Parts: sequence; structure tokens; C-alpha cells
Amino acid sequence: MQTLKHNNTLKTIGHILLFLLFAFSVQAQTKTEVILLGTGTPYPDPSASGPATVVKVGDRVFLFDAGAGVMRKVNAAGLPLSGPEAVFFTHLHSDHTLGYADLILTTWIMRRTKALQAYGPHGLKSMTRHLLLAFAEDIDIRTKGLEREVPGGYRVDVHEITEGVVYERDGVRVTAIVVPHGSWKEAYGYRVDTPDRSIVISGDTAPSKNLMAASQGVDVLVHEVYLSRGVKVEDRPGGEFWPEYMRKFHTSELELGSLANLAKPKLLLLTHIIRFGGTDEEIISGIRKAGFTGDVIAGTDLGRY
Ligand SMILES: [Zn+2]
Repeated sequence: MQTLKHNNTLKTIGHILLFLLFAFSVQAQTKTEVILLGTGTPYPDPSASGPATVVKVGDRVFLFDAGAGVMRKVNAAGLPLSGPEAVFFTHLHSDHTLGYADLILTTWIMRRTKALQAYGPHGLKSMTRHLLLAFAEDIDIRTKGLEREVPGGYRVDVHEITEGVVYERDGVRVTAIVVPHGSWKEAYGYRVDTPDRSIVISGDTAPSKNLMAASQGVDVLVHEVYLSRGVKVEDRPGGEFWPEYMRKFHTSELELGSLANLAKPKLLLLTHIIRFGGTDEEIISGIRKAGFTGDVIAGTDLGRY
């Protein structure tokens, strides 16, 4: 009798341990991380690659924009070289797309066999077709020559999108948010919902009510920013348009502070930071002055949040 009781207790403990192990592995599978691959701007800062942000959900990689240096940073972050589950472009400015050819061709050479799934504004199909045309001879030689790369492994399925849910698969939903980026006809921010976190990525944008509404209480708001006092007419040839450009295309630290105060993300993560010779501390103190009291971090390349 005593032994039977003992056995039952052991069984129960065994079941609890199995359950904990299962719960832990589910947790590990769905653990979501934001990885900033590139926090830069068009300025070729050696310490900040072109804009590229990863949302990593377990082993699954979702890439947002592909700025210059993207595949070097994918490797540095220890992510698969054969490419993401999908890439989403916020808009087609060159600093956000200069790494697109790198993404298409380098993942192929690193043994990608499936078509790359690329989402973004209208014009992405044309850009993709022209990039493949520009590299036609390279593709031909790599396929038919001695390198014997996987035939057709460079393929891209392009999905030109409008606002709303653009991707939903195995617990990950990506929603495109229309944002105002000056004279661009189409620019998007994205909200990513995973089993354990919610993340909004602003892309390049002037202060956006849509984005603010989509960011209510999210775990992470990844947002662009510039230092307002740095915008000086005399700093550029033809600089009389400069302040207006910044106002219509981008978000100052003061504007971002009030936006974040309304959205109340758990973490405000700054990227695409235009400092104009100022510092991150100045930018963050402006955000505080404008009313946001939550956590703020000035993102750095390869930072994980
Ligand atoms: Zn832009």
C-alpha cells in the first residue's frame, strides 16, 4: 500500500515535470525578440547600417526593410543566411531598399531554395524586376557556370499591399498601417502580433494618428526620430526647404514624446535617429519634456529588445 502511494506520488511529480518542460518549450518556441540590424539613415555612418529591423518569433525571422549592409548584420546577429520567412518594406526610399539586391542574391548563394516572400508598397514589383534584370548576367553565370547555384533559387514572390492585415500564419499577424511620409504616395508602418508580444514599427513617417492608434499599449514601439533644434536652414544648399522637408517627412523628439504619451507603449525604441550633431540624451530629454514617462531606449545596431 505504502509503495503504491509512493509510486503514485512519483507519477504525479513526473507529470508535473513533463508539463513544466512542455510549457517551457512552448514558451521558448514563441519567445519574441526585436533585433535592430540597422539603425542608420542615408548618412553612411560606419557604426549604423541602413534601416533593417527583425522581429524574431522562436526560430522564425521577419525582416522589416533592407538597408545597406543588411546581410552582414543578419550574419552578425546569428540569423539564418538563407533568408527570412518574409520581408516587409515600409517604403521605397533608397536607404530602406539598398540591401534588397543583397537580400535576394546573397540568400540564394547561401542556399535559399524557396521564393523570397516580399511585401511592400506598389512599385516593389517593378523594383524587384529591375534588380533581377540588373544582375541577369551574374545569375546566368552562377547557375550555368561552375558554381552550379540552385536554379531559380533567387526567385521573389512580390506582394504589393494596401492597409490592413497583410500576413497571417501560424500565430503571427502583420498589419500594414498607412503613414504620412512627405510626397511618397505610399508609406507604411507595421504592427506585428505574435503569441507573446505586440510590436509596432513606424518606418519613416511624420507624426501619424494611424500609427498612434495602432500602438495603444503595445509591448514595443520602434519609431524614427530627429532632433528638432538641429534643423538649420544654413546647413544645406537650398536649405530653405529643409525645415519643411523634416516636418512633412519625419517626427521630431517633441512630437514623438507627445505621440508616445498618448499611445503608452511599454517600450519606446528609437531607430533611424537623425541627431544633427546632437546626442541621444538630448533626444530622450525632449521626449520626456513632451510628456512620455515610460521606458525609452536609443537603439543600436545588433541590439536585442
Ligand atoms: Zn524615407
